[in-house]
Amino acid sequence: MIIKQKGTYDIYGVDAKKRQYIKNVLDTLSDKYGYGFIETPVFEATELFHRSVGDESDIVKKETYDFKDRGDRNISLRPEGTAGVVRWFVENKLYGNLTDPVKVFYCEKMYRYERPQSGRQREFTQWGFECFGSDFVESDAEVISLAYNAYKLLGLENVKVKINSLGDDESRDNYRKALVDYLKPYKDELCDDCKRRLETNPLRVLDCKIDGDNDILKNVPKIIDYLNEESKNRFDKLLELLDLLEIDYEIDSNIVRGLDYYNYTVFEIVLNDSLALGAGGRYNNLVESLGGESTPAVGFAMGLDRVVEILDNENIEIPIEDSIDVYILGESENERNTASILTQTLRLNSFSCEMDMMNKTFKNQFKAVDRMNAKYLILLKDDDIKENVITIKDNKTREEEKISIVDLVDYLDTHI
Ligand code: ATP
Ligand code: MG
Repeated sequence: MIIKQKGTYDIYGVDAKKRQYIKNVLDTLSDKYGYGFIETPVFEATELFHRSVGDESDIVKKETYDFKDRGDRNISLRPEGTAGVVRWFVENKLYGNLTDPVKVFYCEKMYRYERPQSGRQREFTQWGFECFGSDFVESDAEVISLAYNAYKLLGLENVKVKINSLGDDESRDNYRKALVDYLKPYKDELCDDCKRRLETNPLRVLDCKIDGDNDILKNVPKIIDYLNEESKNRFDKLLELLDLLEIDYEIDSNIVRGLDYYNYTVFEIVLNDSLALGAGGRYNNLVESLGGESTPAVGFAMGLDRVVEILDNENIEIPIEDSIDVYILGESENERNTASILTQTLRLNSFSCEMDMMNKTFKNQFKAVDRMNAKYLILLKDDDIKENVITIKDNKTREEEKISIVDLVDYLDTHI
């Protein structure tokens, strides 16, 4: 027997319905915020992720699924969604003088070679969105608002935005120097990865999963103290806007994000002050570094699987349809044929309708009516069919009526 790969899941039944509901909520909300749906390929040139996510990131160093295709090209399965969307944006030359922002959202499978555990899979789904063209804090606030309110709309009350600013290049450089000066004396006490990061990309030490709890890191200089005036003003303005929008946030100077491309705003959304549900930030240099003209951008991505798991853990009810509109019963060949015709007609008129497919007796078909929780049932009889009438019964009130077959759709339209 061949079984599924580690860290992957088959999703079906009630779980599939729940995810569909969540996706629908997110799709609708994205649409209201003016973000259009985009699909990009599952695989891209490996180089794309090296250049965007960053050679030094955990994602690229340890987590990508890399392979050579039959044409000897270096290919990776996408570990995140932003790189592909930016590649699309640059390839189609959408940069330049934008009169209005270009706003897109996606909901796609991502692939990371991780140690599978709760909330951490090798194949998982991210819902995310990107806004290109605006360097004003209104767009940072819009992205945060969409992310934050998505969770609220799904019923998660206790969400909070943890926010930080990495500032512009100058602020970041100054901070990097201060951080290195501070960390150098403790070098031997850091993990092997962080020893290397200290040379290659010191900010990443703050994001370390091993050294994160280390006392050394608890007292590191805060990037906020190294922001130049422009960066500081910008951050203050964004926080003011978040206050106006009544978005619950908290400044967290340890948030630097695991990806290389961020500047200014970085944020995570957490539940009950701990678990990270999603993350985002501003990435004004990425379009240019992937070959386009400099274009400011800001985005966010959440793990859909973690959200599903949390809604379950928090016992938040997801409204999923567990009934059908109509069940049609028939026993004789003529009754069954009529059932087939009517079932198709009702389905094509947007009613959910089922009939027996297992040659069951009437008695057992009645059991199916209850199993499927049908709102109405139609009991076909040869004598009725001859006269073009049917008996339709409300399965709750048990009231029944004989109506003409041609009136069936109208009847259900007024009753359901
Ligand atoms: P973490 O610190 O948990 O590893 P990350 O920084 O790698 O997260 P991002 O790359 O920012 O995560 O991805 C955004 C969101 O995608 C995460 O907050 C999480 O909800 C989800 N996510 C990331 N990796 C996985 C995974 N392996 N399985 C399921 N969901 C994931
Ligand atoms: Mg990770």
